[in-house]
Amino acid sequence: MRPAVPIAQDLVLVGGGHAHVHVLKRFGMRPAAGVRLTLIARDIETPYSGMLPGYVAGLYDVAECHIDLVRLARFAGARLIHAEAMGLDRGARHVLCHPHPPIRYDVVSLDIGSTPRLDDVPGAAEHTVSVKPIARFAERWEALIERARDLAGLRLAIVGGGAGGVELALAAHHRLAGILDTAPEITLVTRDALLPSHNARVRRLFARLFAERGIRAVTETPIARVEPGRLIAADGSAIEFDEALWVTDAAGAPWLAATGLPLDKRGFVVVDENLRSPADDAIFAAGDIATMPAHPREKAGVYAVRHGPPLADNLRRALAGRNLRRAVPQKRALALIGTGDGKAVASRGPFTAYGKSLWWLKEWIDRRWMRRYTELPDMVGGEGLESEHAMRCGGCAAKVPAEVLARVLARLDPAASGKVANDRVTIGLASPDDAALVSFPGAPPLLQTVDFFRAMVDDPYLFGRIAANHALGDIYAMGGTPDTALAIATVPPARPVIVEQDLFHMLKGATEILDAAGAVLVGGHSAEGAELALGFAVTGRTDPGNLLRKGGLRPGDRLVLTKPLGTGVILAAEMRRLAPARSVAAAIAAMQQSAAAASACFVAHGATACTDVTGFGLLGHLGEMLAASGTPELRVGARLDPEEIPALDGALALLATGLTSSLHGANLAALSALAPGEADRDPALAALLIDPQTAGGLLAGVPAERAAACRDELCRLGYRAAEIGVVVERAGERARVWLDPGSARHPEIPAPATVDA
Ligand SMILES: Cc1cc2nc3c(=O)[nH]c(=O)nc-3n(C[C@H](O)[C@H](O)[C@H](O)COP(=O)(O)OP(=O)(O)OC[C@H]3O[C@@H](n4cnc5c(N)ncnc54)[C@H](O)[C@@H]3O)c2cc1C
Repeated sequence: MRPAVPIAQDLVLVGGGHAHVHVLKRFGMRPAAGVRLTLIARDIETPYSGMLPGYVAGLYDVAECHIDLVRLARFAGARLIHAEAMGLDRGARHVLCHPHPPIRYDVVSLDIGSTPRLDDVPGAAEHTVSVKPIARFAERWEALIERARDLAGLRLAIVGGGAGGVELALAAHHRLAGILDTAPEITLVTRDALLPSHNARVRRLFARLFAERGIRAVTETPIARVEPGRLIAADGSAIEFDEALWVTDAAGAPWLAATGLPLDKRGFVVVDENLRSPADDAIFAAGDIATMPAHPREKAGVYAVRHGPPLADNLRRALAGRNLRRAVPQKRALALIGTGDGKAVASRGPFTAYGKSLWWLKEWIDRRWMRRYTELPDMVGGEGLESEHAMRCGGCAAKVPAEVLARVLARLDPAASGKVANDRVTIGLASPDDAALVSFPGAPPLLQTVDFFRAMVDDPYLFGRIAANHALGDIYAMGGTPDTALAIATVPPARPVIVEQDLFHMLKGATEILDAAGAVLVGGHSAEGAELALGFAVTGRTDPGNLLRKGGLRPGDRLVLTKPLGTGVILAAEMRRLAPARSVAAAIAAMQQSAAAASACFVAHGATACTDVTGFGLLGHLGEMLAASGTPELRVGARLDPEEIPALDGALALLATGLTSSLHGANLAALSALAPGEADRDPALAALLIDPQTAGGLLAGVPAERAAACRDELCRLGYRAAEIGVVVERAGERARVWLDPGSARHPEIPAPATVDA
């Protein structure tokens, strides 16, 4: 997954705005040797502003007007850091982020759009909905519609009379009039005239359209403050509202002031004709956030789009130390302003036109632009999709298959493999578990475990957090508390300063997780390696009464799982650019959720057995629990309720397409635990059951009478926990696990399948 050429330079893009999506595409088409591309993005789905009013009008859905930055970054071979930039340390050449540690750059480019100026007007931030940042507006608009449904008649105020505000007023009218019983009362309030930067004909046309639709325009009326439900104008007059949208002039992000870069009076970054800061050769800016004092332009998406090609070119030239290209956008651009009803107004200087065909033109332009960044070609010859090695999964999906491991251990000399009695070893390879339990004279017993795998995400900090969390899972699965950890890390070759940053980021992420767990990093080993990889040997303690083991399940116990399944397939799909950004974000969040509270909860509810679901999938690990439980006289199996098995959003849909992680083939053997024919009935579900998990949930057997309380407590603790089945006495030889709809909710109804002898 790493370039063959060692990394020599870091190009960092801050913000996934309109210009940067083009830079990503261009670098994906033609990578720059030795350059590592990093995108820092606060939002992983970036909106295309041109289509936003169409979304508000109900003409597009969210996906149609957003670019999935996870997929685009993967195409570009860029590391995606999902974080908000908060500053620049220009001396150290670091982008300061939240919550991520600083990210170094050789060249950095800012395309972060503009920030609403809500603070200028008291009460605006509290009582209105800001359209900026646009990336968050979609959610707020949907919430507003829901609230509007509960009102007898909606009074909507829109503050701001530029193209954005006018277009929004017409779009909102169209949408709300279509779904509410009573026509909405819409008032647009603006400090100046309507559309002050457009010609008089355009302004008259919009005034007429407003009048026809009953939208009131209150012009030349600056708002001085906002109270709950009331806009108070500078002249003291009040405009009542149920909901208010804020679409006024925006400014540069406040943190830019501390960078020492030259800014204009609204806080936008001053750039020269090459889009570079005149004060710092390493810093570029584009889109709304950039201002070219000699060539002032409106803050509009159309200019941000136009910055894309010269910016991509100039970033490449700056890295290579070549002369830059002039990037002054043309003076006038054609504005196509939608009227919410499938028509649009064209405005350019004195030119004006209105009609359906202009909406078709706008839609054609917008959709063509979106397709460029959402329908990405398969790259041939690079690290493209076709390279089998590049597609091997990281994380726990990179485990050695269970059967291979079992064969190797069986071939080892029993004494060397710890299979002979040893008074120091209470739990070892003779009865393998998630962690070993060893004792030394005069000291309490210790839990010991080790994990190591290659990165499954490109951000070393995030990877460090996930790897540490995963390693701690074994201790928690045993009902223990982690004490110390030793790290082992490999980092791909690069300039020493880059190696240092990667190692620091990994260990910073890891130590945050270890600290939160009360564990201390006491040492480790690092080396250069082909890939980013990290592992931990963790030592912990457990009170004898709290020790949880894989074995111990009893018929009647309920099976409780603490996290949804699907990280394996989602990460595999992400490498192929097939996973939606939201699914990837959900998988990453799940992999960072600690098992500490779940472990304590299981102990408190008298769990009879526990394990963590990792590389061998739910079925593989459940199989280990069942094999370790029961007696030759009383063998146990499990009825799993397919309806209750939690899956990460998008996981089943991806599995249904036949996509799987690289450990899937080896995990197929675990399906033999199912009754004959069951895996074929629902192939996607069967694949989910063997999907390898990284930092997966704990799976425990809980006495029937305490299971509901245990699950409720887990949910209260923030887990997406579920009671997924019940342990049963097994009559037959073949099957150990039955898929039995309803069994979690009605385990008292015996399953005919369990008597399969
Ligand atoms: C309702 C409305 C309709 C509009 N319609 C049009 C139109 O039809 N045509 C037109 O030309 N213009 C339109 N505009 C203007 C247009 O939205 C902006 O000019 C355009 O979005 C600017 O693009 P950009 O690339 O500079 O930034 P943006 O599109 O705002 O993108 C900035 C990106 O940076 C990310 N980001 C922000 N801060 C940080 C940070 N600190 N760290 C990391 N990431 C960060 C954001 O998540 C976002 O993805 C409209 C505006 C509004 C409000």
